[in-house]
Parts: sequence; structure tokens; C-alpha cells
Amino acid sequence: MQEVTADLKHRMRGVWRNAELVDPNTHNNKLATYHSWFAIPFSRNERMPINVPRYLYLDLSKHVMRNISRFRLRAHTLKVEAAAWHGDGSCVCDQCPGEDEHVQNEVHALLICQDHRVCELRKHFSFLFTPFFEDFSAAQPFLLQQVNNQLVHDFLPQQNNRFFLFF
Ligand SMILES: [Zn+2]
Repeated sequence: MQEVTADLKHRMRGVWRNAELVDPNTHNNKLATYHSWFAIPFSRNERMPINVPRYLYLDLSKHVMRNISRFRLRAHTLKVEAAAWHGDGSCVCDQCPGEDEHVQNEVHALLICQDHRVCELRKHFSFLFTPFFEDFSAAQPFLLQQVNNQLVHDFLPQQNNRFFLFF
């Protein structure tokens, strides 16, 4: 039985090892997106139980918990996901002003989108952004360029990250 368990764990981790090779900024891939931005890392010790995301322990309504899960698992209505369901759909954000075309994915919604409603939320929760992103300010509550995946991964699980609950 131990051999079967060890083999299953090895195969499960293999799925994530393959996902590590894909950059969600350049490939529309749910597995890679989840792995790079939202997944809880495995313990180096394969005998340790798998960690569960912190928000599942919080006292949140079912509605909020469902929305967080949907966002983390790319089961939302951002353009990057909607385009996958509509053959000729565009991934470009339709909320950003100006001529620049940005893929409307999770990181875009959290950090880059210039939609005034999202900018107001970021200003309200500015204490979450300023330690991570030097470019962020009240005058410019959005980032002008992509950030690396590790920074996104570190930003989301902050102890007091209530901003994330709005998505
Ligand atoms: Zn946008």
C-alpha cells in the first residue's frame, strides 16, 4: 500500500512539475496560472500533508468563499477565461482607457487594470500594495508593467489581504 501511495504522490507532483515550465504571462493555461500565482507550495517533505489555502479557514460567507475559489481557479468572467469559451473572443481588457492592449487576466485585474473602480479599491487598500510595488501610489494606483510571478505569489497570501476578497 505504501508503494501505491508514494506512486500517487509522485504522479500528482509530476502534474505541477510540468506546470512549472509554462509561464502564465505568455500562455493561456489554467494549470500554469494556478501553479504560478495561487497554489500553496508543497512541502519538501513528501510525507507532510498538503497545505490548504488560508481563506478556507476564515470566517467568510459562502458567497465570498466561492468567489475567491472561482478567481483562484480561473472560473471567472475575466476576458482571458471568457475568450476560451467563445471561439473568436478577445482577451484584451475592455475596462482600461487608452490605446494599450492588455490581456485581462488575474494579475491584470489585481495590479495593472486602470478601471476607476479597481483603482479606488487599490487606493483603499494601499497598505497592501506599497510594500511590494515601488511604482504604486495614490496618484497612480496601478502598475505599468507585468511583475514577476514570485512577487504575485507573495502578494496574495498576506495576512490582512482583504482586497483579494473583492474579486
Ligand atoms: Zn484593464
